[in-house]
Amino acid sequence: MADVMDMRIGHGYDVHALAQGLKLRLCGVDIEHEKGCVSHSDGDVAVHALCDALLGAVALGDIGLHYPDTAEEFRGIDSMLLLEDCMSRIAYEGFRVVNADVTIAMQRPKLRPYIDTMRSRLAGVLGVDVTRVSVKATTTERLGFVGREEGVEANAVVLLAPRK
Ligand code: MG
Repeated sequence: MADVMDMRIGHGYDVHALAQGLKLRLCGVDIEHEKGCVSHSDGDVAVHALCDALLGAVALGDIGLHYPDTAEEFRGIDSMLLLEDCMSRIAYEGFRVVNADVTIAMQRPKLRPYIDTMRSRLAGVLGVDVTRVSVKATTTERLGFVGREEGVEANAVVLLAPRK
């Protein structure tokens, strides 16, 4: 059992604007919707929040530092590749994932049908059983930019323990 002082917690937060006609991808899963996230990458706001949580847990800065949106090499990139890269970084620091919890705030569409696929896609990259990965979806009761369907908001929390 790892000493609690050797464990690390990280939080990540991200927002992207929605625009007509763009593809929507969340947690590595393509979602059927008439709007998608405006982004330099594939706009996977949930994976961006998770990357920031991983980087935050080991105090390695943030996603914008490692994968700047001004760099041509990251244009349209699959954010799951960024997540894989964050996993390499935390492994290099000597850590593994204990569990992760992601919350996506979006007014429409209902994300329920996609949740289990999202969990298994994330679990595959995080190197843990699907029971250790939670993805939750909420609306904001039509309040704010999320409620007006102008954007999507994501929060993520991860717990890390030392690798054996
Ligand atoms: Mg982002």
